[in-house]
Amino acid sequence: MKRFTCIVMIISVFYSLSCFSKGNFDGHEHGKIQLEVAYDKNLGTILLKAPMDTIFSFENVPKSDNEKKLFSDVKKRWEENPFQFFMLDPSLNCKTMNTEFRQNIDKEDKVVKHSQLEAKFDFKCEKNLAATRMKISLKKEFKKIKEISLEVFGKSIQKLTLTHDSDDISL
Ligand SMILES: [Zn+2]
Repeated sequence: MKRFTCIVMIISVFYSLSCFSKGNFDGHEHGKIQLEVAYDKNLGTILLKAPMDTIFSFENVPKSDNEKKLFSDVKKRWEENPFQFFMLDPSLNCKTMNTEFRQNIDKEDKVVKHSQLEAKFDFKCEKNLAATRMKISLKKEFKKIKEISLEVFGKSIQKLTLTHDSDDISL
């Protein structure tokens, strides 16, 4: 229930960061990512939380040129066109409003043991999103993802576990 309140707040306060995690990530499970999709009529928000290792194969702060490039490449894709990972019906004509993409590290750790990628974006469409479809293709892009735990807050609340390279869901 707490998460539901949180996601509703994201819908109404688009710049809210309060749903990003604080604290340590000892409990996070590599290979499993969490995804929340919320919408209210034609406005939507998508929030992704993933162990850094599952997306980038490292959890430290990017140090080598290769690590820095990997991180900035995915960040750029997320910021420029997050719909490449979450495909919607083109007739909805959805546009990104703002995006966030960051590595969340447990600051109390002297040595970074675990860290998370936390990314979100808000979007606005010309039509109502209810009962439209969304194709989620994160697993196809990031091979270390084994399972996506998805929650949709819209016309109804859905909890789904996605395990295919590409999953087509109904909003
Ligand atoms: Zn970890």
